[in-house]
Amino acid sequence: MSRFLSQRFASIEPYVPGEQPQGRKYIKLNTNESPYPPAPGVLEAINREEVAKLRLYSDPDARPLVAAIARRFGVGEDQVFVGNGSDEVLAFTFLAFGGVEKRFRFPALSYGFYPVFARLLGVTYEAVPLRPDFTIDPADYIGCGTNIVLANPNAPTGYALGLETIGEIARSNPDSVVVIDEAYVDFGGESAAVLLDTYDNLLVVQTFSKSRCLAGMRIGFALGSAELIADLQRMKFSFNPYNLDRLAILAGTAAMEDEAYLNTCTAKICATRRRVTDRLREMGFTVLESKANFVFARRDGIPGGRLFAALREKGILVRHWEDPLIADYLRISIGSDEEMDAFLAAAGQILEEETK
Ligand code: PMP
Repeated sequence: MSRFLSQRFASIEPYVPGEQPQGRKYIKLNTNESPYPPAPGVLEAINREEVAKLRLYSDPDARPLVAAIARRFGVGEDQVFVGNGSDEVLAFTFLAFGGVEKRFRFPALSYGFYPVFARLLGVTYEAVPLRPDFTIDPADYIGCGTNIVLANPNAPTGYALGLETIGEIARSNPDSVVVIDEAYVDFGGESAAVLLDTYDNLLVVQTFSKSRCLAGMRIGFALGSAELIADLQRMKFSFNPYNLDRLAILAGTAAMEDEAYLNTCTAKICATRRRVTDRLREMGFTVLESKANFVFARRDGIPGGRLFAALREKGILVRHWEDPLIADYLRISIGSDEEMDAFLAAAGQILEEETK
């Protein structure tokens, strides 16, 4: 830390992203990326001609992308906001709707970036513990009178709330913004986008990083009332108008237009998830029943940290947190069948060595 850093940021603990190794080749099951390449149209959209156009700024309104998203969800173009990954969309959301008195409430075990955004942007927050079984108690959010952000399905558990519950939360907090972060919704959750006509305080956030196989492109979006979206635009145009580059706009448009490819990828991942869940249970793991593209699992008799390190040693990266509540758990992204077979074989070997 230099002596120049503004005092107000001195105590911030930045978010620690999952490892992105650039040297040794790992089987990467640590940041919930897709094991499949982007839709074929993405490669066609990014050609020499478009690369040559990189000398020009991108469209600050990202028009073709916004139009494709609006068509897909049956909403107006003024109900779509696009950002540089859903991380940026979420940051603008905290910035626009949060403050010292405008609190945000979210589960204590959820996406680790929420408290970081809140601290960075001077937003007061309440992190509410989950139930002991890792489920969210809807009563903590119904009529709580604060802004809310819920990852649905939640991470790292993979548990999802139903639309009735989301509707009740939105209905009972009419003067607060209810943000539903649907990064993992395409793997078995139900999108709250269908509730947007009913609740003008609902903001649905999604990403191209998981089901649309474009984590490296950094595209996320929010759907909401035209008024909420205008508020997000106000943040963006006061911060970084060209937040999506030219290639991201093209890639995102092609990916959003290929629904069949999305369905193929998510179906494959859900089938692999089923198989991996069952196999891990046979091996003595406790595995939460996930609706996301990862599973959260622990194995009696081997601490999570040790299993994490042993897998890493064998070239397999998964995610582990030191937080005592979940220190025995690993979050394992669902890769291709071949990757998961390698993971299962390595886990089997490690367990065998442990019990020798
Ligand atoms: N929300 C949740 C719940 C996530 O797990 C992630 C991915 N780490 C994000 C948002 C952000 O994803 P991205 O910025 O790649 O869209």
